[in-house]
Amino acid sequence: MSVPANPPAAPVPAALPYLPFTRPTIDEETIAGVAGVLRSGWLTSGPQVKALEAKLSAHCGGRPVRAFNSGTCTMEIALRIAGVGPGHEVITTPLSWVATSNVILEVGARPVFVDIDPVTRNLDLERVAAAITPATRAVIPVDLAGLPVDRDRLYAIAKQHGLRVVEDAAQSFGSNWQGKPIGSFGDFASFSFHPNKNVTTIEGGALVLNDEREAKLAEQYRLQGVVRTGFDGMEVDLVGGKFNLTDVAARVGLGQLPHLAEFNAKRRELARAYFEEFAAPAAAALGLGLPVADFTQSNWHMFQVLLPAERLTLKRAELMAQMHDAGIGTGVHYPAIHLFALYRRLGGKDGDFPHAEYAGRNLLTLPLFPAMTRADVRRVATTLTALLRAHQRP
Ligand SMILES: *Cc1c(COP(=O)(O)O)cnc(C)c1O
Repeated sequence: MSVPANPPAAPVPAALPYLPFTRPTIDEETIAGVAGVLRSGWLTSGPQVKALEAKLSAHCGGRPVRAFNSGTCTMEIALRIAGVGPGHEVITTPLSWVATSNVILEVGARPVFVDIDPVTRNLDLERVAAAITPATRAVIPVDLAGLPVDRDRLYAIAKQHGLRVVEDAAQSFGSNWQGKPIGSFGDFASFSFHPNKNVTTIEGGALVLNDEREAKLAEQYRLQGVVRTGFDGMEVDLVGGKFNLTDVAARVGLGQLPHLAEFNAKRRELARAYFEEFAAPAAAALGLGLPVADFTQSNWHMFQVLLPAERLTLKRAELMAQMHDAGIGTGVHYPAIHLFALYRRLGGKDGDFPHAEYAGRNLLTLPLFPAMTRADVRRVATTLTALLRAHQRP
């Protein structure tokens, strides 16, 4: 029997797997269902898209819903249906994914930003009235991180000033306002099913509309403006695009929807766990800004903390790099839109929207997705707390 030259090494604890800031959960039934669609001979928009639209409509209290290949195009199409175009202004938040304001430019209108409420991090409705001019046609509020904008006040303002609303609910599918699901009431509602969102169709989105006339227009804008009648009738009377969802993608969505409530319950539970961790004295002393603790309405699309920048010796990017080195992914959602080069050319300046700018520089998105565990939350909180403590200004 040979004697080892060296004593056996002490067992090394297995490295913890990398924790991304988000990850979709796709079950085996969905994977098998996708294989079925691939074998069916019908890949693009067909029966799966129709079935997905029916399920989405049921979720939205029976309102008409149409599926698309992105959330972005649904907002552009909603603006077109509302007749928003050159010479018009649309009010929105500077703290969002840039798609929210890009669609306003896409239809030839002008985005008019209004600062956020630093507590909710959503459009500050108190400031909206002052931004309305005779050219204002619509408002695009965003439910950042899934926290719904106050729908009562939003629609009171819209009604008083005769404005259309395109709810950018890309992040708030499954959230509710006072018990009513987002999308089940109001004007247009736009959802995204990007893989980072609470449910996914890989890429994709849906638009909730007010009536069948709008739904027919949405179908036209979705596919080259075409209207078909009978076996051979085809007419085109407006410029549409190529925004249709595939049946393969729709089948993914059909496999996701039955899990929506369970996914969002899990997210809510994990968000609660973050609050518990950050309430610990060592963490609480660091001055981290926490989100609104809403456990009834939000779908907890993200858990974002506001870094106490003035108390830290390291920049957000350095902190993200150190979290990454510790095996933890984080994200930035989002830099203030009016400070992007394109928007600066349109007049955006530093200092225009101080709350959005501060949030844009200092918000950090922590990992939150249904497959995470309570231990993962502790690991994130412990790692972040230790890094913040190690880099305090003297
Ligand atoms: C994801 C997202 C969009 C765009 O959705 P896509 O499906 O990627 O086009 C728009 N607005 C917000 C706030 C989003 O988070």
